[in-house]
Parts: sequence; C-alpha cells; structure tokens
Amino acid sequence: MLEIACNLSRIRASLPEGATLVAVSKTHPAEAIREAFDAGHRIFGESRPQELCAKYEVLPKEIEWHMIGHLQTNKVKYIAPFVRMIQSVDSARLAETIQREAAKCGRTIDILLEIHVAQEETKSGWNVGELKRYVETAAFSSMPNVRVRGVMGIATNTDDERVIRRDFGELKRCFELLRPYFGGRFDTLSMGMSHDYPIAVECGANMVRVGSSIFGERDYTSKG
Ligand SMILES: *Cc1c(COP(=O)(O)O)cnc(C)c1O
Repeated sequence: MLEIACNLSRIRASLPEGATLVAVSKTHPAEAIREAFDAGHRIFGESRPQELCAKYEVLPKEIEWHMIGHLQTNKVKYIAPFVRMIQSVDSARLAETIQREAAKCGRTIDILLEIHVAQEETKSGWNVGELKRYVETAAFSSMPNVRVRGVMGIATNTDDERVIRRDFGELKRCFELLRPYFGGRFDTLSMGMSHDYPIAVECGANMVRVGSSIFGERDYTSKG
C-alpha cells in the first residue's frame, strides 16, 4: 500500500466511530491529495485561501474543502463559491463577511467558532466571554447563509499532557456552553492535530485535523 493510504487507514482505525478526520494537506502538492483521494478520503483542510483555490481547480470536485487557517475578510470571496466549512471564524467581522459572500453565491457555508485556549498569545480565536456576549446578541440569527456547526481550537504546543488536557477540556466546556444557543445542528467539536489527536478524542473531539501524520513533515522553506 502507498504510504499516504497506509497512514490514513492507520489513523482512521484509531478513531472512534462517528469521528471525522480532516486530512490537513497545506503545503503538500496536489498529487499527495490525489493519492489520499484515491484511497477513499474526501475531506481536506487548507490554511491559505490562494493555495486552497489552486488545489480546488485541479482536483476532483467531490472533495469537501475545509478552511482551517486564519482568514482575512478580503479573502473570503475567493473561497466562498466552493468551501464546505470555515473552521477558523474568530471575529464578528469575519462571520458577517462570510454571510455576505455566501449569499452572493446563493450558498450556505458551515462554520466553526475558533476559540483561543492555548497559552501562546500568537494563536488566534475568540475569548470565550466575548464570544458568548456576541452570541447573546442573536447576531447569527440574521445570518441565514451561515450555519454555525460548533467549535474549533488548538491546544498549547507542549509535551505536558496535563496542559493539553486542560486546553481540550476548556474547548469542550465552551462547546457545551454555546450549544443551547444553536440547537441540534451545533454538533461539531474540532480539536486535535497529529501530536495530540488521541488526547483530543478522549476529551470529546468528534473532528480531528491531522496533517503531518498523513502527508509527512511540512517543508516551509521550499516554495510550492
Ligand atoms: C496545520 C494545522 C493542523 C495539522 O497539523 P499537524 O501537526 O500537521 O497534524 C491542524 N489544525 C490547524 C489549525 C493547522 O493549522
């Protein structure tokens, strides 16, 4: 079996039933995604709009593309025609822009609310209190083309499992806190990456975003 296919089936086998695996293909070439696609995988995550559009153009249209990286409002229009889910919604302005661009395309776009729980300041996401206040203004009820499906987050980058569990526990609490405002369609808790997804699943994740364990290490120094 080819390496990518092999990695995929190993990871799939380690996930509980009902957990969704997003294969994070950022920086990897279209051929690598094609290999995963040929092995039956359909859900891929990218973190840059331009790269996402380029891959969308050349790859099969059955692919479900998830935007997982920080998204500038002026880039939303490029991905709105086809993106399935935007996991990195970290501001009111971004949500409102997605509403506008999705409406222009006559589409409904699924989103996740990205919450900041890690110790690093560099990571993006809502502060939970701010987000709760925003949700309480019922702002999302005037966004018919945006479907809020749940919460996304990234744990602190550390080997200390207690810190990772605390971060994932915090995300799970945020998910439970916000769920009553959205009802049954609010069903997705996206947390866990290559190094920590087994812990994330133990803490309640039902979507994990795995890149390097599928496609190998990323090389940020070479272009393309
Ligand atoms: C890159 C990235 C991942 C995947 O990271 P790996 O460590 O390669 O599994 C997951 N989530 C987000 C938001 C990312 O940017």
